[in-house]
Amino acid sequence: MKIVEVEAIPIRIPLKKPFTIAVGTLTHCNHVLVRMTDDNGRVGWGETTTFLEVYGYDQKSLCRALTDHLIPAVKGMDPHDLALIHQRMDQVMPNNLMAKAGIDFAIHDLLAQAVEQPIHALIGGKRLDRIPLICGIDIMPADQAIEIAREMVNQGYRTVKIKIGKDPRADIERVKSVRKAVGDEIKLRVDGNCGYDRDMAVRTFSRMEEYGLEWIEQPLPAWDLDGMAMLADRLDTPIAVDESMYTPYNAQHCIALGAADIVNIKIVKCGGIYRSQKIAALCAAAGVPCFLGGCIETTPGTAAAAHFYAATPNIISAAEIYGSDHYVDDIVKEKFTIDHGELRLPLTPGLGVVIDEEKVSRYRSDQ
Ligand SMILES: [Mg+2]
Repeated sequence: MKIVEVEAIPIRIPLKKPFTIAVGTLTHCNHVLVRMTDDNGRVGWGETTTFLEVYGYDQKSLCRALTDHLIPAVKGMDPHDLALIHQRMDQVMPNNLMAKAGIDFAIHDLLAQAVEQPIHALIGGKRLDRIPLICGIDIMPADQAIEIAREMVNQGYRTVKIKIGKDPRADIERVKSVRKAVGDEIKLRVDGNCGYDRDMAVRTFSRMEEYGLEWIEQPLPAWDLDGMAMLADRLDTPIAVDESMYTPYNAQHCIALGAADIVNIKIVKCGGIYRSQKIAALCAAAGVPCFLGGCIETTPGTAAAAHFYAATPNIISAAEIYGSDHYVDDIVKEKFTIDHGELRLPLTPGLGVVIDEEKVSRYRSDQ
């Protein structure tokens, strides 16, 4: 088996409404699809994403990393040589994990199609059929947050994630209001996206903890692991790392410092399924659970994440994927349906999605 053709395709699909977190706002996806053909004519797809203010690169740089460097490096290789392929990619270009994830997903899609199995069957199997999802609430006034949380809980969602990190007073008010609106049975987690400093974090969370939080994600800047360890020590609520965590080395370091009670694995951000499995294994060895984060993927990226969730035993609680619900459209023939806040695991070969190439052309952003 050989990789004979690979193309990076930037797409732009508007969000139904802007998505705001502590460091910036998204109005449309900046994703890049990877279309990979093998010597049997099979086509594998990957989807990678970015958010400039969070990850430091825009769609053009993501696309260039693939087209100019990573794609030439992997063309001609055997998709089974996954470890070698990642090593080759690292040799031609360090970092750029999100670009590498696009290649990794397309390879997993091809490998799974070749044996007519869904991806999860190749990477550990299926420990469940339905994946519980979060109701995500970004930075918005408390009354709007309440409305969304109530509606989603009525639909069956059991976990609400609230973005914070811009204004401590408004953050506490939003968390308090949502807790009151959804009751004590619903899990609430918060994500600061690096928006606080140490002093603000201690003062805010010593008040916010009374609303019963599942965990507090990345309140401090990515570099401030000592600060995260201090918070983990002072607060009863577990501290989660996200922006501090890209690689197995980061995970090892965060855990050794006591900066991570739980680890957010976003398979796009961490460079794909192969590398994310290493992070999950390392965390398992340290007794630290993980949860599945997301990068507002459309359906192909959501599918890759769902397979990873299903096959990875130390991933707990609700996943932060949305099955393209945030977008006005998608690039697949059939979108995932979310039922009672759960996503049904794709069971057909490969990623388990059928790409609509007409829509890919329609949303292509480099023409
Ligand atoms: Mg996060």
